[in-house]
Amino acid sequence: MPQQVAENDRPWHALSPEEALARRESTPGGLEAEDARARLARHGPNQLQQVQGRPAWKRLLAQFNNILMVILLVAAAASLGLGHLLDAIAIFGVVLIIALIGFIQEGKAEQALDSIRDMLSPRAQVVRDGRRSEIPAEQLVPGDIVLVESGDRVPADLRLLEAGRLRAEEAALTGESIPVDKGVDAVAEDTDLAERSCMAYAGTIVVQGNARGLVVETGETTEIGRISELLRGVETLRTPLLRQLDRAGRVLALIIMVTAVLTAAFGILVHGEPLVGMFMAAVGLAVAAIPEGMPAIVTIGLALGVQAMARQNAIIRRLPAVETLGSISTIFSDKTGTLTRNEMTARAVCLPDGEIRIEGTGFTPEGTFHEVRDGEPLDEPLDLDAHHALRHFLKVGVLCNNAELARDEGRWHIHGDPTEGALVVAAAKAGLAAGELRGDHDRQDAIPFESERRYMATLHEMDGEPYLLVKGAPDRLLEMCHRVRTDAGETELDHGEWEARIHALSERGLRVLALAEKRAEGITDLVDEHAEDGLVLLGLVGLLDPPRDEAIAAVKDCLAAGIRPVMVTGDHAVTARAIAVQLGFAQTGRAITGREIEAMSDAELEDVILDVDVYARAAPEHKLRLVTAMQARGGVCAMTGDGVNDGPALKRADVGVAMGIQGTEAAKEAAEMVLADDNFATIVRAIREGRKVYDNIRKTITFLLPTNGAQGLAIMIAVLAGGLLPVTPLQALWVNMVVAVTLGLALAFEAGERDLMRRAPRDPAAPLLDLFLLWRVVFVSVLLLLGVYGIFSWLLDGQGGSLALARSGAVNMLVTGCAAYLINSRYLRRSSLSLTGLFGSRPVWIAIALVVALQLAWTYLPVMQLVFGSTALAPGHWLAILVVGVAIFLAVELEKGVLRRFHGEQGATEDAGEDPRERAEAR
Ligand code: ADP
Ligand code: MG
Repeated sequence: MPQQVAENDRPWHALSPEEALARRESTPGGLEAEDARARLARHGPNQLQQVQGRPAWKRLLAQFNNILMVILLVAAAASLGLGHLLDAIAIFGVVLIIALIGFIQEGKAEQALDSIRDMLSPRAQVVRDGRRSEIPAEQLVPGDIVLVESGDRVPADLRLLEAGRLRAEEAALTGESIPVDKGVDAVAEDTDLAERSCMAYAGTIVVQGNARGLVVETGETTEIGRISELLRGVETLRTPLLRQLDRAGRVLALIIMVTAVLTAAFGILVHGEPLVGMFMAAVGLAVAAIPEGMPAIVTIGLALGVQAMARQNAIIRRLPAVETLGSISTIFSDKTGTLTRNEMTARAVCLPDGEIRIEGTGFTPEGTFHEVRDGEPLDEPLDLDAHHALRHFLKVGVLCNNAELARDEGRWHIHGDPTEGALVVAAAKAGLAAGELRGDHDRQDAIPFESERRYMATLHEMDGEPYLLVKGAPDRLLEMCHRVRTDAGETELDHGEWEARIHALSERGLRVLALAEKRAEGITDLVDEHAEDGLVLLGLVGLLDPPRDEAIAAVKDCLAAGIRPVMVTGDHAVTARAIAVQLGFAQTGRAITGREIEAMSDAELEDVILDVDVYARAAPEHKLRLVTAMQARGGVCAMTGDGVNDGPALKRADVGVAMGIQGTEAAKEAAEMVLADDNFATIVRAIREGRKVYDNIRKTITFLLPTNGAQGLAIMIAVLAGGLLPVTPLQALWVNMVVAVTLGLALAFEAGERDLMRRAPRDPAAPLLDLFLLWRVVFVSVLLLLGVYGIFSWLLDGQGGSLALARSGAVNMLVTGCAAYLINSRYLRRSSLSLTGLFGSRPVWIAIALVVALQLAWTYLPVMQLVFGSTALAPGHWLAILVVGVAIFLAVELEKGVLRRFHGEQGATEDAGEDPRERAEAR
């Protein structure tokens, strides 16, 4: 048990920050790493006890909870009552096998989900050894100092030490969804949980501001840890598709059972068959025709899809997304960091008396400054000491800034926002160290940058005077400035001239920021109004953020796959369009801004939404309207987001996509999918995977149903015609539950077809089994039926064999036919008659090899012969079965060919094979 604080002490919220620090034996500079390790050993990890999955025995028992099992158990009991002991034992044995297979498969699926759940564990910003670093939230210990900011999920119970405009949403704890203000002042001992404003509790979400807090409780001793009912349950595999299958399955089962009873009644009344025999026939018909193995296979297909997506950095948070991904027709994507690399470098500074180019790449603080004359930078580096305006500009850029530049193992990198990091690097190139500057000019207050506000402001003392420094989007800042700072002093601001400069920088694809300042006498508590008027403009800086190479390729894939990429960015329209052109998706070349969206009605927006690929200066609330409008036009949308306020748009989108690295916990929570690498290309890969999963499910179902159809029809015809059953109920059970399931599973592993990303997105309203697939099911059912009856009659009448022999032949024929049809089913429309088509899939051949072994055992092992009434076949019999199997395979290929000719399928000209990329991945 983690040790509790002495009982009679006052609660944390009643202590002053100093008292709290003292009680947790900590300091504002944080713990020492050594101490933290010791505390971790003492208090245990900062995590809530995992909700245990269902125990194994419960899962095993659950396997018996379905119609087939009930029928079988009734049949076993009836056989026992009728004195058929062996039959009863055999049915019961098969029931056990079925339960075991289901149990193992379900375990596999759950494992797949478990493995991805761990990938989403949150991280925390902690101060240890006086330095800030990021660690897994699990490793926090009481006494740690942590930093939280807007969008974060509070990682442990915190006594706040500093709070800047902090607001937290505590619904997880109090059920109240309206955010509450937080501060540092202690409150009375008997204050309610919901009003303890100096505490930030684990599991709640910071929706505004930032804070520094002392970890007072971790893991089970946090407030949320004590209310164990609130723990999130384990997600089980339930998706719309599975539910739909379940429902369809139940209706089908009912129909089949009614048919079975009617058929048996027909046998008794018309043919005068004995009751017992007809009872077994009815059971046999039900067992043969109900596709009970299907849900398990489809579940595994989905789980495999989730796993494959996780391997490619797309982490699925809600399972239905696996299906929805396949029908996405529009991707609304952030620009910065998703389509671009987010490795910002300041390339140009525009001051009132001219432009200055900055050399150097990446975050390495090395590079020279060059004055631009007549559009060309001078070779001679600028004399920085003489350029007071530039130095002042860079200094302001560093002070109104939260990023830090650090060097780890020789590599330079940025802590914080890359946009801000670029300014720190630029200043460092001029020899201005951020640490020193910030130490000399203490920050008294700040308004953080937010996409809606589009600027950030800080309050400092500079040269003995209070100064307000502002940096933000240039068009926003121009509204707030009247004057401009030149070497000579302040002059009137010429808006037209500066707008032209902004435009010129943006057209080069640069992200532009403006800096401004004003004397701020008498201001102590900064509010928006202080910053929004009377500023003096200092100049502009242009940041380069090139598109990701993978994103350019992914955009091409999207366009080929009938998916529209659309950029939604806070950046300037001209910059955004320049980047869109570089990415290759500015087909219409039309960009509209958030302001224009605001001026439009919903109907107007719906009118233009299909013609615009770039939305600039857009805020989160615009994203929501974009998704809604696109959905009204029939689009299935993915929408990316990272901020707290992106939540509604992410929830509204068909697949909300949160950034794993830059994204806030709040965004991740609202999303269906999280990108571990923040990369646009990952979305496209996930879509491809989603299409593949759906394809494979369709293939699996089309493969499984004819087995049931053929057996059901065979038994029904036998009874109706008053003949012998070609397959006994037990034999049907064997084929359905052991053989067909083994074969069908192979299709869940099929690689994506070559044209997977060259088809239009799937219509989400289209039925799983369309007319084409129904036709295929009926066609193959009849083929298998003919084969089974053919071999049965040939052995029984033609060869004068025993009934046992004829049935053994019939069952082996059915299985062989299925194995052949499995190869047909690798491609629903394209030909399987090629090297890759026949031999390209290892799972298919493993499954076939397994089934061959199973059938040999079934045919020749005495135990099996005893249970299933099978008997040995002669080589001649096998040969006949093989020939018929090949004939069935060829017949299906012929059907595919005819259909292709009729429909003029483009697939007809393409040779069979999987996507070459897929094979590259497999290596
Ligand atoms: P996006 O992330 O879609 O590119 P943002 O909303 O982050 O857009 O940024 C919008 C604009 O706000 C940028 O073009 C830039 O001018 C400005 N900006 C971005 N980040 C900051 C920041 N940290 N401080 C001040 N201004 C910023
Ligand atoms: Mg941003």
